[in-house]
Amino acid sequence: MTLVKDCRFFHTYSTENSVPVHTANHGVLETTGRGMCIGWMTIGNHHLRVKLSNCLHAPNAMLNLLSVSCMNAKGWDINFKSNMTCELGYKGNTLGSIPATGKLYAVDLDFIPHSEPSPACLTPEFAASVQAPLTLDLWHARLGHLGQNAIARLDKVAKGVSFDSNTPLSTCESCIMAKHPHLPFHSSETERASKFLEMIHSDICGPIPVVTPHSKRYFIVFLDDHTHILNIQLLASKDQALSAWTMVRAKWENLSGLHIKIFRSDNGGEFINDAFTQALESAGIERQRSAPYAHQQNGKAE
Ligand SMILES: [Zn+2]
Repeated sequence: MTLVKDCRFFHTYSTENSVPVHTANHGVLETTGRGMCIGWMTIGNHHLRVKLSNCLHAPNAMLNLLSVSCMNAKGWDINFKSNMTCELGYKGNTLGSIPATGKLYAVDLDFIPHSEPSPACLTPEFAASVQAPLTLDLWHARLGHLGQNAIARLDKVAKGVSFDSNTPLSTCESCIMAKHPHLPFHSSETERASKFLEMIHSDICGPIPVVTPHSKRYFIVFLDDHTHILNIQLLASKDQALSAWTMVRAKWENLSGLHIKIFRSDNGGEFINDAFTQALESAGIERQRSAPYAHQQNGKAE
């Protein structure tokens, strides 16, 4: 008997004649119905759409199991070899071999779910996830706003993609918004510093998904506007921005004998807080901030 775990794979379903099944590993398995399933089977280079009639629905099965005798009866040749592979053929044509996984032979079979749930599975939870109609719009949204021509080719290059190609892609507001170009920001020549330490740009970046061996997940940059001398510090958290700034400021001022005049950053909370403001004010450093959502004004550090 062919056993299938998932009720969504049944294209026909009947609760009559469901019987307990004795299996090699699990003792007795309860089945709740039987019906027909459809799937794509891949053997070597062959990609076949197969119909599995009279499958038993066994929700507690550990695996979907194909029945060798049912396959034989439908015209399949199944040849178990001593090198632990199984050669499959259909109506006299050899298709390819599949390897043994432990004591079982694993067939690459992708079940095609039925779009309507079978009556036995129509619990409220399942009814809430009934499949949406497959349209170009849906695939456009699922695949990161893929273009219409690319979607139209999908059914030739991917498994399990189907859609109604007669309904054209509708106008997508997100695509229109995303493709609007931003006007260029011109950097103002007059603002350029004429000396080292006249203006320092700063920005912080993170959290970075991969943490360093010393638990650092942010970095802060300090950039001198005139010389483009750059200092980068790794931080464990954003609140270490002030101590990084204090250290870099002391180092640069001490080495050059000059004083920092202007500190420019965006409006990040690591810069705009009482402690940072006090540190700048007590050193007589003017703070300049870029306007919200105008990162270009903090362009050099960004
Ligand atoms: Zn779009």
